[in-house]
Parts: sequence; structure tokens; C-alpha cells
Amino acid sequence: MTHIGIAGAGLAGRLLAWRLALAGNRVSLFDAKHRDDSTSASQTAAAMLSPLAELAVSDDAVFELGQRSLALWPQWLAQLATPVYFKQGGTLVVAHTQDSASLEHFSRLLHHKLPVACKAQVQTLNAAELAQLEPLLAGRFNGGLYLAGEGQLANDHLMAALAIELDRLGVQWHEGQAVKALESQRMVCTAEKHDVDVAIDARGVGSKSSLPALRGVRGEVLRVACKSVTLQRPVRLMHPRYQLYVAPRPNGEFVVGATELESEDAGPVTVRSVLELASALHSLHPAFGEARILSMRAALRPALDDHLPRVEQREGVWHINGLYRHGYLCAPALVDDLVGALALTPALSISRQREIERAGEQDRPLFLHVPSPTGRGLG
Ligand SMILES: Cc1cc2nc3c(=O)[nH]c(=O)nc-3n(C[C@H](O)[C@H](O)[C@H](O)COP(=O)(O)OP(=O)(O)OC[C@H]3O[C@@H](n4cnc5c(N)ncnc54)[C@H](O)[C@@H]3O)c2cc1C
Repeated sequence: MTHIGIAGAGLAGRLLAWRLALAGNRVSLFDAKHRDDSTSASQTAAAMLSPLAELAVSDDAVFELGQRSLALWPQWLAQLATPVYFKQGGTLVVAHTQDSASLEHFSRLLHHKLPVACKAQVQTLNAAELAQLEPLLAGRFNGGLYLAGEGQLANDHLMAALAIELDRLGVQWHEGQAVKALESQRMVCTAEKHDVDVAIDARGVGSKSSLPALRGVRGEVLRVACKSVTLQRPVRLMHPRYQLYVAPRPNGEFVVGATELESEDAGPVTVRSVLELASALHSLHPAFGEARILSMRAALRPALDDHLPRVEQREGVWHINGLYRHGYLCAPALVDDLVGALALTPALSISRQREIERAGEQDRPLFLHVPSPTGRGLG
């Protein structure tokens, strides 16, 4: 039985631990925080699954990973003992009349990049069609875009459900144990070292010492409750300065997000951000004026310069990082590929490591997901 050590119990670490334990491996998971800590990007995210909306501003690779992940999510969620809220009812994109240029620009970008086979997934709606799909918005917008097949899930449900699953599968969870460094077969924690067969680094922004190009991108979200308002699906409001999305959750709750700031300050949400998010929300529908603010949270998205996720093996250690604002969108496909690679090469990676050590060779990096030369992200 291969013993796999994973540093970081965010979305990437938990999903990997689960899939690797299911595949019959012995898994040890290390996190600097406790399982219910709510400060990671994974615990803060809106968890929208929007390959189409992201295609307008991201690399094609994100779209492809997102499409694969959208197919995997319902299958994987069905395997969890605890239910996780998941909906795939598409997304609406709207803009106020004075901001219609932003919506038109977004629509042109998207149509330009959309593969022919997916054209039918993007539909232009007039005001009546929009009102029929989302009655709350009747009379408020001249039309919009409908992005069919997009989804969203409740990240808090998922993170808790995965924790239960990991316990059930006997994953050894070292809570409150910071990993200082990873070696090819060792997890180096502050107080002790743990030998493993395969080491995986999934520490998000906490991996900066291993990935110097990694940076944190601050994001803030509000969670509100508003019983008088019903939305069937997430709505994106285009705006020249900032974009807003409102994602409905069970029990009349909504996630409202998100700011995107070039800052590694993970401190509390600022007044400016609350004003921007809340005023955009109110402009979507005045009934949101009575919404109760349940929480305001900020976290750092782990990002590389090209804004693409990266799964790679360097010096015998696997890294999964750079999930940026696409973690929920892309994680299942990334994790599936990494689990597949480990299943094919566990013996190889260990014996290759020993061979390398004997020969004194430099280990060449192995990549599963590398940036394309044209990779870019504007988000
Ligand atoms: C406001 C906001 C909104 C978002 N909305 C969306 C969205 O709608 N859709 C989408 O797809 N994505 C979204 N994202 C992005 C998504 O949340 C991230 O891409 C994803 O959660 C990254 O997961 P991760 O596991 O790589 O990193 P993290 O969630 O950062 O997890 C890293 C873990 O490593 C642990 N750690 C750190 N240092 C150490 C150490 N030294 N030793 C041990 N453990 C350590 C941390 O405690 C943490 O648990 C959003 C993010 C934010 C902030």
C-alpha cells in the first residue's frame, strides 16, 4: 500500500486525499489550521462552476478543465455520504442600460472564443425571455445572456462532507501541523518529520517558498439572507468598474462576490468593498436592500503569473497549485489526472527517485498541466 502525504487540506488537498484513499492508498493529510477553519480560499469561495463565463477572460485550458470537471462533480458528489447542495441551472448575465457596452464586449469575447460545438450553450435573451427564465428580473433589464449548463455548489457543505468522508476512509489528518518543507519522501513539519512514499504539496498560497512565482490575489464575498427574493440560478451583473455575481444557496441565502485585488492582505473586508458589493446587489433588485448580512469574508486566491493551474512533479515532489479563481471549476479534472498519474507511476516515482539518487542526476520535472504559450487571464 503506497503511503501518500499531502500538505494542505483546502479543496485540492481534501479532494486528492479522498480520491487517493478511495483508490486504496494510505493517506496522511497535514494542515496548518484545523478542519473547520474558515480562512482559506476554499472555505471562502462562491464555488460557481462557470466554464463559459470564465472563457471570455481566461485561457482555453480553463474552459476544457471546467467542462470535464462539470461532468465529474455530480458523479463525485453522489459518492459522498453527506448531501452537498449542487445545481446546474445555467447562469444569467445582465447589465443596466448605461453599462450595456460591458455586456456587449463580454458577449463578443465569449463568442469569439467559444468552440463551435458549444455555441448553442450561449443564448441571447430579450427582456421577455429573461423575465420568463428569472421572474425576479422582469422589467429591470432589456435582455441578457443565458449560459446553459453552468452550475454552482455549496463549498461549506462540500468541505464538511469531505472531512466526514476522510475520517470514514481512515485518512490520518494532522490538524494544526504546518508543513515547512516537502522532500521526495518526507513531510517536514515544525516539530517532526514524517516519512511517506509520495509527497504532494497542496498548500495554496502557503507554498510560496516552493513556488516563488506564486502570489495571493485578495477576494472578498458577502453572504446575505433575503427571504423575499428568489433566484433560480446565479446572476452576473456586468459593470465597467467591477463585476458582481449573486449565487443563490438553500434557505433564502445568497453569496455575493467577488472583489479581485492585487494584494496579499488577507485581513477583514473593507468598507469600500462592502459598499461596492452591496450597492451592485441593491441595483440588481431593490428588495435586496432588506437582506441581512450573515458574513463578510476575505481570502487569498493562489495564482501564478499566467493564471493557469499547474500540476507538476519537481525533485520528486508533486505540486498542485495556481488554482486562482478556478479552483471549484477545475479541481476534479486536475485531481483526476494527478490520481491517474500516481496510479500509473507509484513504483516508478519511488524507484526512479532512488535511481536518480544513485546516479546523482538532476530530476527532470514532470508536468500534467502546464501553461500554453498564449496563456493569459484578465480576471
Ligand atoms: C472570494 C473568492 C471567491 C471565489 N470564487 C470561486 C468560484 O466561484 N469558482 C471557483 O472555481 N473558484 C473560486 N475561488 C477560487 C477557489 O476558492 C480557489 O481556487 C481554491 O479554493 C484553491 O484551493 P487550494 O486547495 O489550492 O488552496 P486553499 O483553499 O488556499 O487551501 C490551502 C490549504 O493549505 C493550508 N496550508 C497553508 N500553508 C500550510 C502549511 N505551511 N502547512 C500545512 N498546511 C498549510 C491552508 O491552511 C489551507 O487549508 C474563489 C476564491 C475566493 C477567495
